[in-house]
Amino acid sequence: MGNPRKEKLLKIIQEARTLVEITERKREYQRMWYKKNAEVHKARTRANRKRRHKEWMTWKATLSCTECGFSHPAAIDFHHIKKDPSNRAVNQLVKDGRYSAATEEIEKKCIPLCSNCHRILHWKEIK
Ligand SMILES: [Zn+2]
Repeated sequence: MGNPRKEKLLKIIQEARTLVEITERKREYQRMWYKKNAEVHKARTRANRKRRHKEWMTWKATLSCTECGFSHPAAIDFHHIKKDPSNRAVNQLVKDGRYSAATEEIEKKCIPLCSNCHRILHWKEIK
């Protein structure tokens, strides 16, 4: 018999190779699946994105400015109450389709303000 340490190492290497092969086969399957179903997949993704955006706008329409009470989904901004490096731009999260992250950010750290009140508030900060 050979060196048991060497045999153990060879076994570990063989297991790693097997894992790599399985991963490559999975990737190839996914590539083939996508090639075959790309249009259906894209249409489904578009529909989901559209539905989620509509839900977002519907929710936003229920909000009103905490300063003046104005309410319109196109005019509502989210103002971070505290300046903090961990604050995340809500508009960017929404653009990226990350609605849950955006909602969490708003619930924890923001107040709704209309665009005018938001601008005025920041204008006062630099005065
Ligand atoms: Zn306002």
